[in-house]
Amino acid sequence: MLVIRDKLCTGCRLCEQICSMEHHREVNPHLARIKIESKWPAEEKIIVCRQCKTQNCVKACPQKALSFDGYVKLDEKACDGCGQCLEACPFGYNLRNKNTGKPVFCDTCSGNYSCVSWCPAKAIRKGGA
Ligand code: SF4
Ligand code: SF4
Repeated sequence: MLVIRDKLCTGCRLCEQICSMEHHREVNPHLARIKIESKWPAEEKIIVCRQCKTQNCVKACPQKALSFDGYVKLDEKACDGCGQCLEACPFGYNLRNKNTGKPVFCDTCSGNYSCVSWCPAKAIRKGGA
């Protein structure tokens, strides 16, 4: 589970860059599975799947396209992009693949949690399950 501390985020967006590098080998924040929302003068908001215990997204999916095994896994073929999973998220997570319209979820970078390692402000950390 990811523990987020919005207050510590400086808005450097290194996490977005690292995430897109990990998954697509290119620096492109639009491809990242984490997003920093800036609404100055309010503090930054870190948008990422927390891998939370409720798993409301998994329960909400009418296509049974989601499963949970330490993180949310998407069956791309079963998903029709309806967005009910995102609407059910208690943290307001809402990131979709710009090309397919289907949701994207943090996959922990195979357990390496690259954003956690690289965030200089320690605004993202790995918590207990
Ligand atoms: S790397 Fe950390 S400080 Fe920088 S934008 Fe991401 S969460 Fe915020
Ligand atoms: S967008 Fe896909 S994963 Fe989400 S509820 Fe709809 S079918 Fe399920």
